[in-house]
This record gives sequence, C-alpha cells and structure tokens, in this order.
Amino acid sequence: MIPFNRAPVTGEEQYYMTQAIENRKLSGDGPFTKKCQEWLESSFECPKTYLTPSCTHALEMAALLVDIKPGDEVIMPSYTFVSTANAFALRGAVVVFVDIRPDTMNIDENLIEDAVTSKTKAIIPVHYAGVACEMDTILSIAKKHELMVIEDAAQGVMSTYKGKALGTIGDYGCYSFHDTKNYTSGEGGALLVNDERNKEQAEIIREKGTNRSRFLRGQVDKYSWVNIGSSYLPGELNAAYLYAQLHHANVINEDRLASWNMYYEALEPLAEKGLIELPMVPEECCHNAHMFYIKTKDIEERTALVEWLKQDNIVSVFHYVPLHSSEAGKRFGRFHGEDRFTTKESERLLRLPMFYELQKQDIEAVTNRVRSFYKC
Ligand SMILES: *Cc1c(COP(=O)(O)O)cnc(C)c1O
Repeated sequence: MIPFNRAPVTGEEQYYMTQAIENRKLSGDGPFTKKCQEWLESSFECPKTYLTPSCTHALEMAALLVDIKPGDEVIMPSYTFVSTANAFALRGAVVVFVDIRPDTMNIDENLIEDAVTSKTKAIIPVHYAGVACEMDTILSIAKKHELMVIEDAAQGVMSTYKGKALGTIGDYGCYSFHDTKNYTSGEGGALLVNDERNKEQAEIIREKGTNRSRFLRGQVDKYSWVNIGSSYLPGELNAAYLYAQLHHANVINEDRLASWNMYYEALEPLAEKGLIELPMVPEECCHNAHMFYIKTKDIEERTALVEWLKQDNIVSVFHYVPLHSSEAGKRFGRFHGEDRFTTKESERLLRLPMFYELQKQDIEAVTNRVRSFYKC
C-alpha cells in the first residue's frame, strides 16, 4: 500500500526526547521550546516566534492580538482549512470569503480591495501548498486601508516569496507542525510576531492573560492577570521531537522537492496533452513541496481516478470543501463577489502521496497508474 502521508522521522527524535525527560522539565517554554524558537527566528529572520500547541492556536492568538471584536470583518479565501475562519469567528468576526486564482488556488489578490468595508480589520492570506500568495499587492491594500495581515502559513514552512520566508511578511504568521505537514511535533504550531512591539502582548495572551513572562525575566516582582488570554504553550516532549525535525529541515526539504519534481516530470506529458493540469509556482516563489496535486477534468473524473488508484492500493485524497458552502460558513460568513473558481477548481483537485522519504519506485508506481488511467 502507498499511503497518502507518513509522519516524518529523522532519527534524532528519541535522542532529544530522552534529553527532555532527563531535564525534568516537561511543561512549556523549557530548553527545547527555546531552541526551536531560536532556530525559527534565525533561519527565517523573524524578530519573535512562539511555539503553540497547533496552527489553530496560533491563529487564535493572532485574532486576539489584532483585537477582533464582534461585527469586525476579516477577508480570506473560502478554499482553506476550517481553522483559518474559526479563529476569527470565535471572536465574533464576520468572515468575508473572496474567490481564488485557479492557477495557485490562493486568494485572488485583485478581488480583495472590492471586499473591504469600514468594518474590515484584517486580511488572512493562506499560502496553499506552500506556494505564496501575491503578498506585495496584499500588503499595499492593507496599508492603504489600515488593515492587519495575518498569514496562514501552515503549509509554508521553508517556502519564500521574493526571498522572504512565508509567515514573516505580514504582521503575524502562523505555522503548523501537525503530522501531515512538512515538519512535525505530532500536533504543534508557531506564531510569528513580525513587529517587535507586539511581543509583550503576545506573551501575555500565551501565558493565560498574565505577565508571567515579564516576571520570569525579573521585570516585575510578581505576576498577575492583566488581560484575556489562554494557555498556548506546547509541552517540552513535543518541542524536543520538533527540534530533531528542524535540525534536518534542509534534508527533509530537499527530499520532498526531489519527489515533487519527479512527479512533475512524469506527469508533464499528460498535461501537455491537456488531460490534466499541474501545479503552478510563480517565479517569485520558492516552494517547499508540501503537496503534489493534479487537476482532473471534473469531479466525476476525479472520483473515478481515486477509485482507479485505490484498486492499486494507492491512497489519493481531495481537499477542502469550500467553507462558504458549509453550514457554519453560511452562519459566520458571506462570499463577496462571484464564486468563479473556488467550487469548480476544488472539485477537480486531487492530492497524490507526498511525504518525507517517499520512495522513487512508489512515485513511479503512482505516476504509471495515473498514466494508465488516461491511457497515456
Ligand atoms: C493544517 C492547517 C491548519 C491547521 O493546523 P493545525 O496545526 O492542525 O491546527 C490551518 N490552516 C491551514 C491552511 C492548514 O493547512
């Protein structure tokens, strides 16, 4: 069987986890959390990062940091994971969905400005498949209308846009270390704070609304409740696992990129014949091979192909059901403008097996099976 995903293991995880156990310090913000944060800050040139229990939690922190109030509006694509919307709906925001570009599946930057109202507070670009949104346009709209930009870079760790790491371009960035992502701690995430001035507020929110971080640095002589917040710290065992992954970030990245390129080359003849479409990576983007997807003619063809692959023990999966068509999406959001591509393109997209150490012969088996489906 060729699974769709396998959690990455680099071989150093047990070594670091054993150290964490021996440290007798298993709660949050211990030595391994600090090591991971320092690694993220220096590798991605980010002033401050915080590990969180998930990307969902990082998004929730960002919604608190930009002070979302009931009735505020946030703009995002409908083609995304529920957490992107949920984090803001939890604070009472109205989620305004905008159509995507069919080439990258990212929010169409040219449709954002028309969705801005006097209630708009933030834009949430989602870097689908680790391929960046058109950030220059998004930042200039945000500047003009005084909006915050929170990047959902859950899939974008190690990707760049014009040389800048995804997650470090807007006001805040959110990473995921879920085990379906490129680097994992089982469940995990990080919040990237790109303006140093927001550091203290982030620490308060993350430490249950207290100024405990200032206390630990000796800046106040006792800590107390100063604002609303929650517990957004992962434990040290998770951080130790993650540290092994970050330590091998380049190895994992190169391995995935090699698999991605192999898929691309093997399936290019089908794309040239117009039988399928392949992913598009804009020139200013370096991606991290988070995902390899193809697009079939329509949903019927996709269903048949999933079945065809399954008969050969190959697991392929489609992706998001657009949020605006979901029960909660209708309740907490609205679609601005016309849904030209979100539904249509999401119904054609199929993800093929992609994980660290995916074997060459397995990629060949998958691509041969796809080619046989198209008799090509
Ligand atoms: C995976 C993912 C999330 C959620 O990440 P968790 O760490 O599982 O909370 C959010 N947004 C996008 C785009 C994702 O792919």
